[in-house]
This record gives sequence, structure tokens and C-alpha cells, in this order.
Amino acid sequence: MLPYATVEAAETALGRSLTAAETLWLNYSAHKSDYFLYCHNIIFLFLIFSVFPFYYLFLEHFFKKFVGPYKIQPKVNLSFSDTLRCYKSVMRMFFLVVGPLQLVSYPSIKMIGIRTSLPLPPLWEIAAQLGVYFIVEDFGNYWVHRFLHCKWGYEKIHKVHHEYTAPIGFAAPYAHWAEILILGIPSFLGPAMVPGHMITFWLWIALRQIEAIETHSGKFVAYTLHVSSAAMLVKPSQEVVVTLSSLSIIQGYRYQKKVLQQLRDGMKSNQEHNGVLHDISAQGHKVD
Ligand SMILES: [Zn+2]
Repeated sequence: MLPYATVEAAETALGRSLTAAETLWLNYSAHKSDYFLYCHNIIFLFLIFSVFPFYYLFLEHFFKKFVGPYKIQPKVNLSFSDTLRCYKSVMRMFFLVVGPLQLVSYPSIKMIGIRTSLPLPPLWEIAAQLGVYFIVEDFGNYWVHRFLHCKWGYEKIHKVHHEYTAPIGFAAPYAHWAEILILGIPSFLGPAMVPGHMITFWLWIALRQIEAIETHSGKFVAYTLHVSSAAMLVKPSQEVVVTLSSLSIIQGYRYQKKVLQQLRDGMKSNQEHNGVLHDISAQGHKVD
């Protein structure tokens, strides 16, 4: 809760006039507890889980001609009843795990120093912090996901998430309750390292989930990012979970380099075999 209830009191405390955004924030939050503000995330998550996957389905259904070429698995379609079953499961998990987790995790947010006070952070600070959160989460998520793909992790926890093999936005939050808890750790790490304002935290929670849904939708931006990120080169047969995974880009780059080296060696041995030895690098086959 803010230590001042009126614009005048806030302006006196800050020694300057409030911006329009700060006035809006003051009017909205002055009489609300920090805990109540934090719990707004429950409503945001409910709306995102419910609206965004339908948004992709809507586009796919009504703009088939336009979005069709961007679908990763064009021949794979989930029936409406299966889609609805997935959504119901997500909602059940939302009310049993996601919501209660938000209700009880407030002390950790307080501990790391997420603030609700004025002044509001400038836009560049919000953008920079969100950038850090995405990179930290992406890195942490990669290792958690690798752990979940070990024999024990997959059979006991992660196979639930892979139940739906067709790309579908609803499948993003469709997971075992333990996975939901574990994946909360990399999401929390960024704000713990660079704590910001509650508005930044709201944005982070919302954007992170939208990104997850978009990644699992199997089309549009996910398509272009997957292709460009070289993540496809790492494990093309497995579910691609990264968008701009820093680690996967590095790994994909290394893998690409290794494959190109093997191609070079293969070409070289063929040419040696044919008695025509060329210096491959002299031909411009540069991979760095
Ligand atoms: Zn997986």
C-alpha cells in the first residue's frame, strides 16, 4: 500500500508533479494492499490461458488461407472435443495449483523486493528488466527441460506435457502439477536477480505465458523464431521448446559447425578418393 493517499501528498513526497501514468497508478493502488496487487496475476493468468489459445484457433479457423503456410505440422489437427478436454484440464490445474501457488508465494516476492511505490520506473528500465528476465528464464528453462527429459523425469512428470503431440496453444500450461512448480523457479530467478516494480512483474508473468502459448501454437512467430534460432538443429525430432533460447542458439551453432565440418571432411575424402584434392576453405565454404 502506498504511503500517500492523494496526488498532492505524493507530489509533496516526490518533490515534483506526477506523470499521468503515476496519477493513474496512485488512484488505483493507494488503498490496495501489496498482496492484493500481487494477486492480480491470478486474473491475468486466467485470462491469458483462456483467451490466447482461442485467439490462435480463431485465426486458424477463419484465416486459414493466410496462416496455413505458417503452420509447422499442417496435417495435424486436434478435434474440438480434444481441444476442449485440454482446456478443461488446464483450468482444473489452474484452480488446484497455479492459483493457490500465487496466493502463497507472496512472501517470496516481498523478500526479493518487488515494489509498488512511486515513482514508476521509466520505460527503458521496464524493457531492460524484462529482457533480463527472458534470458535468465530461457537459460534456466532449458536445463529444467533437459532434466525433465531424463528417464525418471519424463516418466514421472514430463510425459503429461507431451500428451498432446499436435501443436496447440492450450498445451503450453498443460502439465503435471510438479512441472508447474518446478518451472516456476526459472521464472522467479530473473525478478529475484533484478527486482523491479509490480507493474514490471505483472508484465513479466503475462508476457512469459503468452510466449509459452505462442511457442506451443505451432505457427506464426513461433515458426520464424524456431527456424531462425537454430534450435531445430539441436533436436529436430523432439518438441522444440525454445523461442530465442540463448543456450540453444549456441548449441545449434556448435552443432551446425560440427555438421558442416563433417560435410567438409566427407567432401574432402570423396575428392581424395577421386584424385581431385581441393582446398575446401579456398572455395569459400566458410562457417564461422
Ligand atoms: Zn519436453
